[in-house]
Amino acid sequence: MFVPVRCPQTECPAHRRPEPGFFVRDGFYRPLCRSHPVPRFRCRFCGRGFSRQSFRADRGQKKPFINAACLDLMVACVGLRQAARVLRVARRTVERRFAWLARHAADFQANRLAGARIPGPFQLDELESFEANRYQPVTVPVLIERASLFIVATAVGPLRRKGRLTPRQLLRRAEHEALHGRRPSESRRAVHEVLSRLRTVAPAPVVLESDQKPLYGRLGREILGNGFVWRTHPAAARRDRRNPLFPINHTNARLRHFLARLRRRTWCVTKKRVRLRAHLAIATVWSNFCRGVTNRTGTTPAQAVAVAPRRYRPEEVLAWRQDWGPLSPPLRP
Ligand SMILES: [Zn+2]
Repeated sequence: MFVPVRCPQTECPAHRRPEPGFFVRDGFYRPLCRSHPVPRFRCRFCGRGFSRQSFRADRGQKKPFINAACLDLMVACVGLRQAARVLRVARRTVERRFAWLARHAADFQANRLAGARIPGPFQLDELESFEANRYQPVTVPVLIERASLFIVATAVGPLRRKGRLTPRQLLRRAEHEALHGRRPSESRRAVHEVLSRLRTVAPAPVVLESDQKPLYGRLGREILGNGFVWRTHPAAARRDRRNPLFPINHTNARLRHFLARLRRRTWCVTKKRVRLRAHLAIATVWSNFCRGVTNRTGTTPAQAVAVAPRRYRPEEVLAWRQDWGPLSPPLRP
């Protein structure tokens, strides 16, 4: 039987410090979206009514039953349109659910990492993609714990198109920049964002492995000070299992495999980089908490770094609201 742990009204004293018996039971109601009755309660402090639904992440949704399948589809390398076709709902429904999943996933990961201690070593690399067209590349730094492939953080930043360009491509770039202005390169800001996550999560000394890009060493020392140990490996080495950077190379290859928008030569390319960022938040939670480290093991990356006690089904990850930070309803142990 469901027992509320606190009053859902954030300004009520029974939200922060719920005393035993702060609520009385107040019957049931039958929502349109569920077959079983939902219990109602009344808070003794603020007098407001609430129900079990007030604690659910899917409160207010007309079709909460598509959520778990929607999460699965978001990491099954299909576009949002195809997800809508498979789920037999409108494209707009999937677009809204995508935004909801991303917000929830970001909160879920942040709540699990609050107070967590992950000793490392960590690995970092940037994968490249683009938004809308090839003249608008983006960089995607990905930071993982090496042994478990736990994704600690990802970010997305714009890049200016560089590298070998044909005269025609140079002309196209000049035209593009005349229209949109010179594109900033924000690799530094994006890498800074993911490495900053280590400040609260990793106890010193923090070992980071990466290729020899000097930016990583500079930012690591800037953010983590003397407790920072940087180990570099040549990026040109063969990218097989014997490569010391295999875990991060493999993680990035898997992200390209899971997310249709990260595939090479795809029709599902990202139109706006904030959507890529949202999609990465969803993939991060699924990969960390729902999927085994490999296809053969049932142990998830989050279990391996002791951030979660067991593997969670997508339904469990999406069950309870996560927007109250540490006061969010707990998952079943
Ligand atoms: Zn209350």
